Amino acid sequence: MKKKIKKYIFVVGGVMSGIGKGITTSSIAKILQIYGFKVTAVKIDPYVNVDAGTMNPIEHGEVFVTKDGVECDQDIGNYERFLDQDITTHNYLTTGRVYSSVIERERKLLYQGKCVEVVPHIPEEVLRRIDGALKYQGAEIILVEIGGTVGEYQNLLFLEAARMLHLRHPKDVLFVLVSYLPIPKMIGEMKTKPTQYAVRTLNSAGIQPDIIVARSEVPLDEPRKRKIAAFCNVDKKDIISAPDIKNIYEVPLNFEKDNIGKRILKKLSLKKGKKANFKRWQKLVNVIKDRNKRKIKIGIIGKYFRTGSFVLKDSYISVIEAIKHSSWFYKLEPEIVWFDSSEIEKEKRAVRKLKEFSGIVVPGGFGSRGIEGKIKAITFARENNIPFLGLCYGMQLATIEFARNLAGLKEANSTEILPETKYPVIDLIPSQKRLLREKKYGSSMRLGVWSCLVKPKTISFSAYLKAKWSRIERKTKEGLFLKERHRHRYEFNNTFRDLLTKKGLIIAGLNPEEDLVEIIEIKNHPFFVGVQFHPEFLSRPLNPHPLFREFINQARKI
Ligand code: GLN
Repeated sequence: MKKKIKKYIFVVGGVMSGIGKGITTSSIAKILQIYGFKVTAVKIDPYVNVDAGTMNPIEHGEVFVTKDGVECDQDIGNYERFLDQDITTHNYLTTGRVYSSVIERERKLLYQGKCVEVVPHIPEEVLRRIDGALKYQGAEIILVEIGGTVGEYQNLLFLEAARMLHLRHPKDVLFVLVSYLPIPKMIGEMKTKPTQYAVRTLNSAGIQPDIIVARSEVPLDEPRKRKIAAFCNVDKKDIISAPDIKNIYEVPLNFEKDNIGKRILKKLSLKKGKKANFKRWQKLVNVIKDRNKRKIKIGIIGKYFRTGSFVLKDSYISVIEAIKHSSWFYKLEPEIVWFDSSEIEKEKRAVRKLKEFSGIVVPGGFGSRGIEGKIKAITFARENNIPFLGLCYGMQLATIEFARNLAGLKEANSTEILPETKYPVIDLIPSQKRLLREKKYGSSMRLGVWSCLVKPKTISFSAYLKAKWSRIERKTKEGLFLKERHRHRYEFNNTFRDLLTKKGLIIAGLNPEEDLVEIIEIKNHPFFVGVQFHPEFLSRPLNPHPLFREFINQARKI
């Protein structure tokens, strides 16, 4: 019998954060997947939070949701998009998660009376979880991205886990350091010293990198490669030039120019599968890079997140990616414009600027800031036949807009915005009210996949069918049964269902188990769809989500 392959690649960061460790991890995983291996990827976030669900977007950026309802880091979203793989709770570790399970196991006497110590028990638990992820995904190679940068106190125990594993299986464990090489303006030369220090810091944790991914503004030249090789004890062939590039999906191809895949296989004593080829991926990148594509302007009506002098747009990364995937599908160049909804609130005429968009998206969100502006934008899209896609909060606000302007419920609102509203068309269901009363905020929203029955003769029904969506589970007389991912507390209030449908609102999707509204549409509009779920989490570069696809399809006709 052939021996089972079981290899581990740890990806760590040096010099500073935010230089693309996640994309590096996803890209290496993609290369190895294309080479024919079963691959998966794990994200370790060193924070104490059990998950990302309770952090605000300024702190965290987008909260990605897995099919089993874990609120996690956006890198998991990148793994899913690159690998076209549904990732689960097994692939996400935080200090909080690791410690709570060690404490839980200790309480259950699972350490057989031993003194439970930070070392080795915490690193052992980390390794137990990594192996759990490998097993669950049936993977042969697992990429493990350790958050933060080497030298931070926070990730030491994770590095210790990696070191221990390497000690046990030196032939099966590989370390990739993603480092940054600055080009200070006043010097005008690419500097390698910070990388040398990063390697030394890593060395002091007992780890020697096998490969260095050298991130910089421009490609690495020979003298720089030689210098890093000499001072960091790494073969020159294992220093991968990783210059800034516009599109993340090009990164695997770029890495391959420096033969990263072959180098990894060699070090792990593996052989590439026969069918390995990058054709499909290359084709996608060709479309992305084609400068002659027709432009399509899509407005995202959101609230900006300001932090000091910076504005974060990271909170909507999956939405942006989903728009891109569908635009590329139609060989279009998406021009995504951020439209601050409070601008519409401040100045009445601002709403007219929305005319320049071929499509309008109102994404998910929380709280009451900027809400009235978003509702005005929805009215504008509805009245001017501009394709509109409302995601989660966007769907709830579209319901409010409909109730106010087409069903005569002038004071309609969500109880999230106005708890004492006369017409709570969006409200909490009793189980949610109970959770909030008990202050159970952590991972208590409607999360993860829930069934949706998509009704025949609706825009959504045709969109899913047309795209031959592989996630359709069943097609019956009643419609299409499929699952979509959720993250919200409030729901369409069924008390108003009859009234609103009588006024013309179409309930295009329902959760059959709980009788919850999942999709709303209106008549006589090219594309006006609001979904209670987050289709953006399921969009993949080579397999765009049907609702985004149809949204862009209609938008391109404008
Ligand atoms: N704030 C809304 C809710 O909790 C919508 C959440 C979202 O858009 N993800 O129901």
